[in-house]
Order: sequence, then structure tokens, then C-alpha cells
Amino acid sequence: MLLGSHVGMSGKEMMLGSVKEAISYGANTFMLYTGAPQNTKRKPVEELRIPEARALMEEQGIERFVVHAPYIINLANAVKPETFEIAVETLASELVRTEKMGSDTLILHPGSHVGEGVDVGIAKIIEGLNEVLAVPGTVNIALETMAGKGSEIGRSFEELARIYDGVKYPERLRVCFDTCHTHDAGYDLVHKYDEVMESFDHIIGKEQIAVFHVNDSKNPCGAGKDRHENFGFGYIGFDALMQVIRDDAFADVPRILETPYVPSATKEKVSYAPYKEEIAMIRSGVFDEGLKERLANDSVR
Ligand code: FE
Ligand code: FE
Ligand code: ZN
Repeated sequence: MLLGSHVGMSGKEMMLGSVKEAISYGANTFMLYTGAPQNTKRKPVEELRIPEARALMEEQGIERFVVHAPYIINLANAVKPETFEIAVETLASELVRTEKMGSDTLILHPGSHVGEGVDVGIAKIIEGLNEVLAVPGTVNIALETMAGKGSEIGRSFEELARIYDGVKYPERLRVCFDTCHTHDAGYDLVHKYDEVMESFDHIIGKEQIAVFHVNDSKNPCGAGKDRHENFGFGYIGFDALMQVIRDDAFADVPRILETPYVPSATKEKVSYAPYKEEIAMIRSGVFDEGLKERLANDSVR
């Protein structure tokens, strides 16, 4: 099973540091942003230390990883032309970067219609994707299932299907299925996992899922909030999330944790990455009720 987490990419080590971080968690895949997720400033690819990172991956037997586009990209913005243009340019350069780093999957939040309505937003997303995908390449864009907070598009499988239907290059689209987001959007993964997956298969096609974000949620099903919780500690819970982990239909699909850092019990402004422990727990298949408490406990860390 391919299991990992999102990792950083910064400082001198850049992608080499990302791979080292993934290894430190016992992961065999990972996800990175090519810079700060909230802006579009990026270093030239020559400075990302890609060859060293690839060599370390090979040595460690890590074959696949995925890239997440900065979340300020908003292809659905029909109000500000400059926002749309920046989104198109950034996405195009992210595709190049992703290819040079050696990944075949770039995850994208479809966008927010900022008040213009779903139809206008979807039309704008299609326009942007057509521009970007007109340049041939080896990287697919994985549209992420969204929680539906604000005016986010992608809160339903039908909205994602409309994007597939509208673009000229649907063969270069995939889906990133985020469990926290689909749960928050109203899909009942706890009681109706099989039905939800059947519905996804019917509307988009199971084979389109290129990556899972396996996050728990701090809110009940349908809350439309998008606040991630540690694996097993939220409203989805361990058993329901393990259905996603164990589903044979997705044997080769990377599972990525975007669960929150756990704040220290005693030290202000200190928090700890939960990924090593969460990965070990998921691999063991048994829920570890005391995990979060231990993660917060400075004396055992
Ligand atoms: Fe995302
Ligand atoms: Fe996500
Ligand atoms: Zn989220």
C-alpha cells in the first residue's frame, strides 16, 4: 500500500529535504507543494535539488509522489480577469515543474465562483483547463473533491463530472478524493461507504481516482466546513477511514495524510507532526486511542 503524508519543501535542501522527511515518517510515497501553498512565488527548477532527491527515492524504493498546486489558484474567478490569468500561468508552470520533478499528478482545487454562481464558475474552470492542457505533457491534473465551504466548486461528484464533460482533454484529468472534504460535503462515508463509491463510479469512474487524501474531519457529515482532524480522532473515525485504506479497487493509489500537527501540551507555539505515528497505526490496522495525547506530551518526544 502506498501511504505517506504531505511534506515540506523549503530551505537549502528543497526536494531532497522532502524525500528525507517522508523517509523519517516511514512513508513510501508523499505529497509536496513546490513552494508556499498560499502564494505563487517559486524557485527555478534548477535549485530544487531534483537529481539528489530522485537518487534518494530510488535508493529507498520510493517510486511515486504527487504535487499539490498552490491553493490560491482560482480558475473559477470570473470577476477579476487578472486573478484568472495568474491562475492559468501558475498552473501551466506548475505542470512543467511537476513533470521535471518526476511526478505524473498535480492536484488542483477546482476553484471558487466568488458569487457568480456554479455555472459561471465551471465555465471559467473549463476555459482555464483548456488553455493549460493545450500544451502537451505527461502530468495529469487531479481535481480535488471539495468540502463546499464558501463558493467552492467540486462539492459534488456531479460538479467534477461537468468539468470532465466540458474540457477538450479529459484524458489529462483525474480526481483527488479527500475524505474530510467529501464527508463535510455530505457524503456519508461512515454508514454508506459502498454507496458513495458506487455513486462516484457511476458519475465519474473509480479508475479516475489518482490519489486519496485520508483525513478525518472535525465536523459532522454535511457541515461544509473543511477542518481536518487526525486519523481516527474525528467524525469519520478509524473504521470508516480504514475502508478507504483497505479498498482493493484502489490498490495502487497513493493515500496521503493531511492531518493537523498536534499542539504541545505544555509549550506554546510548538506542535508535532503526527505522520510517523499515524502511518504506523494505519499499517497496524488497530486504532490507538492514546496516540494524540502521546503526540502532545513533550516528555515522551
Ligand atoms: Fe487540497
Ligand atoms: Fe485535501
Ligand atoms: Zn481540506
